[in-house]
Formats: sequence, C-alpha cells, structure tokens
Amino acid sequence: MDFREKYFEIMDKNFPDKRYSTDTLAERFGILYKELVAFNEKVNLTAVTDIEGAIAKHFADSLLIEEYIPQNAKIIDVGCGGGFPTLPLAIVRQDLEITALDSTEKKLKFVSQMANMLSLKVTTLPARAEETGRKTEYRESFDVCVARAVARLNVLSELCIPLVKKGGLFISCKAAIGAEEYDEAKAGTEVLGAKTKNIAEQVLYTAQEEQKRSIFIFEKISATPEKYPRQYAKITKKPL
Ligand code: SAM
Repeated sequence: MDFREKYFEIMDKNFPDKRYSTDTLAERFGILYKELVAFNEKVNLTAVTDIEGAIAKHFADSLLIEEYIPQNAKIIDVGCGGGFPTLPLAIVRQDLEITALDSTEKKLKFVSQMANMLSLKVTTLPARAEETGRKTEYRESFDVCVARAVARLNVLSELCIPLVKKGGLFISCKAAIGAEEYDEAKAGTEVLGAKTKNIAEQVLYTAQEEQKRSIFIFEKISATPEKYPRQYAKITKKPL
C-alpha cells in the first residue's frame, strides 16, 4: 500500500474532522517520510521506519498537541531529536516560528535539511536545554515550549519551564503512565512558576492498536526563580 493511501487512513482515524487530510499535506508528509528513511540509514533517528508506524507514531502523535498551540506562537521544542514534534507542527502550521533544540548536532542536520526542503519556519539550536534556559537571550522568551519523549515530567519541567515567558505554555504529551508522572512533578512545576492549565486525555490510533496519551498543559504565571534550571546531574539526582 502506498504512502498517500495510508496517510489518509491513519490521519482520518486520529482526526475525524479531517483537518490534516489534504493532498498538499499528504504530499509534504510523504517527502518527510522518504527523507527520514534515507537519513536514518546514516544517522539513527528512529527505530520506526515502516509507513504505518511513521505516520501514526511520529506524524499523528506529534500533531496531537497542535490544537493547544496559539496562533503565531514562538515555540521551542526541547530535545527535538530528528524533528518531532517540530517538523509535523511546522508543516501544518505555517504561522508558527519554531526553535528546534537538541544536544546532538547530527540529528539537527536532518531537521534543517527538511526545513530547507519544505520551506519551514524552523531554526535549529545545538545546545543543552538547561544551559539554554540560563541564557538571557532564551530564558523566558518563548510563547510555548513543547517536548516529546525526552525525560520524566519532573526532570522535563526544569528543562522547559524556564524557557517560557509569563502567560506562555509548557505542553508535554505523555503515554499511559502520565498520571503517576504528573503527581511527582506537580509541586516542582509550581516552584518553577507554572500552574496546571489542563490535562487532556487523547487516544492515538496506530494501524494495530489504540494507545492512551495524556497532554499536560502548564501556564507560566510567574518568573522562574534565578537558581533554576540547575545543572543536569542535579536535576536528575534530585528532581524538584
Ligand atoms: N523528541 C524527539 C522524538 O520524539 O522523536 C526525540 C526524542 S529522543 C528519545 C530524546 C532527545 O532529547 C535526544 O535527541 C537527546 O539528545 C535530547 N536531549 C535529552 N536531554 C537533553 C538536554 N538536556 N538538552 C538537549 N537535548 C536533550
């Protein structure tokens, strides 16, 4: 079965209002898929390279958070790896300006290659999140910080919340164990200046199964205290 057919099938199932079911998007995601598989031969970006897996677990999964992102938002994707959720978000939302941050520079090469090829408003930033959050240039300067599959929520919060400006959002999409992670992270998010805005339960339909997703949305309500983020070893050894 070809990419286009599978694309419509999986996107329609995940988004019954067919918001991503257009020929233009199918074509653009088709290019992303082809390039992802080719690049993956040189640099390991993902273990999921079959058509159905890539459309569901990378493209649709990245788009589950799209509806929570305000118009014209300036976004940072912390630990974007090979560009998820950055690339799917930039493909469907040309109004967004995305900074794709990762400490592994070779993965970012794929992200900038795709940004050029598909004319996306994406800038790559090879850096560590906790160091970036201490730089005045980046600290509290983004409308939205997103992150997928980077760390447990209590660690991730300290990497992400310092980057968000007052009134902005930190959005994290987690698999089934999300509730437990939330309980251990909630107090820390408050110390960092955020409060829980919404927890949305969603389902990701892959070709074989349904997987639960929890989308945690935190709003920044006050400045992050000066001492955060700490060094990575401290964050992981003693999460807030
Ligand atoms: N978000 C992508 C995805 O969902 O496919 C990549 C997930 S990958 C499992 C985690 C990524 O986070 C890796 O590329 C790693 O280099 C990056 N990462 C982890 N901790 C980081 C930190 N403190 N600063 C920057 N990048 C980090």
